[in-house]
Amino acid sequence: MNPKNLTRNILLGMGLGLIVGVACNRLGTDVPGVTFVVDGLFPLVGRIFVKSLQLLVVPLVLFSLICGTASLNDLRRLGRIGAKTVAFYLGTTALAVGSAIVLGILLQPGVGFNLSYESDFAVRSSPPLADVILGIFPSNPFQSLAEGKMLQVIVFSILFGIAMCLAGEAGQRVLRVASDLNEVVMKLVILLMLVAPFGVFALVGRTFAQEGFTAILALGKYFFLVLGALVLHLFVTYGLLFKLGTGLSPMRLMRKMRKVQLFAFSTASSNATLPLTLETVEHQLGVKPSVGSFTIPLGATINMDGTAILQGVATVFIAQALQIDVGVQGYLMVVLMSTLASIGTAGVPGVGLIMLAMVFQQVGLPVAAIGVIYGVDRLLDMVRTAVNVTGDAVVSVIVAKSEGEFDQTVFDAVDET
Ligand code: ASP
Repeated sequence: MNPKNLTRNILLGMGLGLIVGVACNRLGTDVPGVTFVVDGLFPLVGRIFVKSLQLLVVPLVLFSLICGTASLNDLRRLGRIGAKTVAFYLGTTALAVGSAIVLGILLQPGVGFNLSYESDFAVRSSPPLADVILGIFPSNPFQSLAEGKMLQVIVFSILFGIAMCLAGEAGQRVLRVASDLNEVVMKLVILLMLVAPFGVFALVGRTFAQEGFTAILALGKYFFLVLGALVLHLFVTYGLLFKLGTGLSPMRLMRKMRKVQLFAFSTASSNATLPLTLETVEHQLGVKPSVGSFTIPLGATINMDGTAILQGVATVFIAQALQIDVGVQGYLMVVLMSTLASIGTAGVPGVGLIMLAMVFQQVGLPVAAIGVIYGVDRLLDMVRTAVNVTGDAVVSVIVAKSEGEFDQTVFDAVDET
């Protein structure tokens, strides 16, 4: 069973959501029924949808990664795949934030911007680096699973998969059970896709009913620069990287990633999109589960190029508006911090601004100034999440191809969904 016309239906849900959302925004909450739809119906349907997606994340990562690691059965290769993936993820993130800073310096979105920030943007203190590293290691796997601590689940699953390889016949028996469970959970993903257009409709409707477009007008230069940098990274950087890294067609990649991007856009969460990203990467793009089961969950957590772009542009924008000279050293610090901060933060809505607070603290910009860009962040969050999940897929295919864990016939096949 494969949902037919899924991309078309999601697009339809999104378009309708946009129209109804903007209409509700225009009508205002005085009109009877609008409050019920915007504050009652939309959040209820949207939240049920996102919760159902999140429901699948932990079992999916656990079973698929256990199977992936055990079927690879080669510790040295496992290490090489891990090292390559992490290097690509961090490298592309550094490139993203670096290019965003350069664009910001060249186009000067903050020069002449009258910035006043009596903002109530809450400053959350960033955890010390040692805690971030310590947080990767699980002490109780059931707790990690129950709390959805992704990096801990990844570490546990890999260790378990390695142990299965070492356990001979017993390991093989467990592998058979885990493979069956994995297949069943994958079917759950497909089931959920059937109701996706309704979920997308509610999420997009709610966002546009709340946001409207007035905030964008006031911050036009900043908004469109972030948007431009995201689009550039999505099509040019990823397009080139994909072509050079695999020799395959970036157009085909983008076509097959369309519904994943729409999902990411609607939910603004790489984590919630993870089930669909994994399904698409393995069943549409030809990445074998041995690689996809590792690269995609890891990417949903540590690879956030779109988020890094936001940090680059936002730093330049606020620095220019406040006429603070961050200096070359300061900008290098932004690149380093944005790249590292993405490791410890999960792919959920709005996390980019929390990371931005860490960056601002490091380079000495007032964290409260983030409140100024807060109003337009939800829309940018949606776009940068679409960039984030595409980056995961690009790196996944590159690593799979370089390791011979790639199925060309799957990549070449027509996408029927
Ligand atoms: N929402 C983004 C994601 O889930 C993170 C962010 O930029 O806030 O990937």
